[in-house]
Amino acid sequence: MGKALTAREILDRLVAFPTVSRESNLDLVDWVEEYLAGFGVRAHRVYDATGRKASLFASAGPEVEGGVVLSGHTDVVPVDGQVWATDPFTVVERDGRLYGRGTADMKGFDALALAAVPLALSRGVKRPLQIALSYDEEVGCLGAPPMIDAMAGVVPKAASVIVGEPSMMKAVTGHKGGVGYAVHVKGYEVHSSMMHRGVNAIMWGAKLIEWANAMNEENRAGAVTPLAALFDPPWTTLHVGQIAGGTAHNITAGDCRFGVDFRVVPGESMAEWEARLREKVAEIEAAMRAVRPEAGISMAPRFHVPPLEPEEMGRAEGLVRSITGDNGRHVVSYGTEAGQFQERGYSAVICGPGDIAQAHQPDEFITVAQFEAGERFLGRVVESLCA
Ligand SMILES: [Zn+2]
Repeated sequence: MGKALTAREILDRLVAFPTVSRESNLDLVDWVEEYLAGFGVRAHRVYDATGRKASLFASAGPEVEGGVVLSGHTDVVPVDGQVWATDPFTVVERDGRLYGRGTADMKGFDALALAAVPLALSRGVKRPLQIALSYDEEVGCLGAPPMIDAMAGVVPKAASVIVGEPSMMKAVTGHKGGVGYAVHVKGYEVHSSMMHRGVNAIMWGAKLIEWANAMNEENRAGAVTPLAALFDPPWTTLHVGQIAGGTAHNITAGDCRFGVDFRVVPGESMAEWEARLREKVAEIEAAMRAVRPEAGISMAPRFHVPPLEPEEMGRAEGLVRSITGDNGRHVVSYGTEAGQFQERGYSAVICGPGDIAQAHQPDEFITVAQFEAGERFLGRVVESLCA
């Protein structure tokens, strides 16, 4: 039988693995797997294409449906260029705060979830407590979908998923969807005095960007649905945050690269927005090719995070509300894995300790009070599984 570490001891261990998204997380996964094995709980891994990263899931308790998934991610954002008062990969307690990269986002919750496993077993839960830890959440929620797919048929289907992103222990029931593309406009270079014979990738790319501007205006002016009204702003937005292209002022630009990101309000179809983008791209590309057949536009998907739609009488939301007593409506503007669980047929809610305001910051911290609130909360979740 493994030694049941305190949640705080587990947090120390998890933060000490510098699992920045670009690095391997396998050392952390090894440790978690061994920790769970100490309680007779078998962990399952789902590797990424490189084999350098894996997500991990496990089910503790009886092999029956109707349990609860505690979902977290193992990766953290980089500390490059940030000034920290202490080592970011060592948990330091000071003035009622636990400092360290990932303490808020979201190794704090991961630690609490792992500490809840021996508790669930000792309490003799009647439905399983399940753990789902992903990789590459911070670079576009890439790791969770294959993990969720792999869970089906390997562990019994849970009734609720709690995604422990920092929400100050509020039940967050909705967020926008996000989808982003890297766009490469390939032009044809000629001397700018002869620009009618060339294809200026920047100027043609600008047509697509201007379409994004027009869509924003249209969306802003449109009617707001009650579902969309929960969000700020209550409409779908298109954003171009980076652009590069061209070689000289007197050459028609041969290349222009930029990103186009959508944040889609629940109730609207991400697929439909992607189709509209492709349609516009095809229209611009046809006009470019009429000038030079070598010209064109290619697009590569960068991320795809479905929205979390507030559920009518959702199981997960109901569970969290019954514990926290929080009956307010909360939505957030960032994407999470909750939408990916929901898209695959789970009832999902976001609820975790700590404040998103501290996430990704230098001197990231979670307060001891929030960490303890999270521990009490998961104790009640375990209790609910005993009933
Ligand atoms: Zn996070």
